[in-house]
Amino acid sequence: MSPLAAARLAVIKVGSALLVDETTGAPNIAWLEAFATDLARLRGRGQGVILVSSGAVALGRERLGLRDRRLNLAEKQAAASAGQSRLMRAWETALEGVGLGVAQVLLTPDDTEVRRRFLNARATLQTLLACGAIPVVNENDAVATEELRYGDNDRLAARVAQMVGADLLVLLSDVDGLYSGDPRKDPTARHLAAVSRIDATIEAMAGGANAEAGLGSGGMATKLAAARIAAAAGCRTLIALGRTPSPLAALEAGARHTLIDAPSTPAAAYKAWIAGSLTPRGLVVADAGAVAALQSGKSLLAAGVTAVEGAFGKGDAVVVRGPDGRDVARGLARLDASEVARIRGRRSAEIEPLLGYAPGPVIHADDLAWLESRAS
Ligand code: GLU
Repeated sequence: MSPLAAARLAVIKVGSALLVDETTGAPNIAWLEAFATDLARLRGRGQGVILVSSGAVALGRERLGLRDRRLNLAEKQAAASAGQSRLMRAWETALEGVGLGVAQVLLTPDDTEVRRRFLNARATLQTLLACGAIPVVNENDAVATEELRYGDNDRLAARVAQMVGADLLVLLSDVDGLYSGDPRKDPTARHLAAVSRIDATIEAMAGGANAEAGLGSGGMATKLAAARIAAAAGCRTLIALGRTPSPLAALEAGARHTLIDAPSTPAAAYKAWIAGSLTPRGLVVADAGAVAALQSGKSLLAAGVTAVEGAFGKGDAVVVRGPDGRDVARGLARLDASEVARIRGRRSAEIEPLLGYAPGPVIHADDLAWLESRAS
């Protein structure tokens, strides 16, 4: 089966060169319509899809009369803000034409790097997917600053894939994958169909003159950087030609591409990240019943918490300690330490009057990593 047909949740990055007609500066309607049919097929098979779409700057240039010259940063941001609505209109027309719902999500790096915001952005994307809609993501270019931007949508797409636990990142571009050299200059350049690990040899291939291969802002180096982020999150990356009319159908029919493998699954990578890479900001002590519930895959509720230590905030990593003093798990807190301190030991029905709202679990099962070796 093609990796695309096997994907549970795919993040697909579409570059400006595919979406925007170079001669008119307007959306490439024919390509969009064919691509919408492609996406409808994936959705019809029950696969989740998130699009990461460029094209705001390119479409806004034309609208603001800024074509045919180099733009400074403020002009680029102005063009992006004029072009983003045009970009969404093009997506809406194409996707609604095949019965798919569309939703715009504009992100800045804080939304994927700051954990509290990450949890919010993730919840929005998950809800959109549960509603059957296709989120169309772009960087919030109008407000992004030079120091604080993803800079290219290959990397943004990889961060989105990591955030939602996607199992496939598809980078549709103007090259059909990785080569051992720049195929435009080097006739001996070899196409690589499969890469099991991004090692020094692969890095070297995408470096130097080859780094900029391909149009758009992302050359091979940014594609590899994106693939590296995705691989660390347990997500495979597929680099393929996007210009063909139905690139996804072409891929399923065996079109040439490069598939970069990931060493683990998204779920395992996420739990390993929680267990190993984050510095815990606090501690909650759980009673024996809660520890047993956690071990069987349930969330940690306030009712099972007997004590709280540290000044953790929402989204921070915390340690879960059992009544015997052993650390049994780590997770991301959905409530801050002062909230947990106020409601610990209480049943859900008692909590709402106390806080004025009904909070979720202290740690959701999805964000909890069981520390098996330490808990035996
Ligand atoms: N966010 C930019 C845009 O929509 C594109 C950045 C990129 O393609 O890497 O125009």
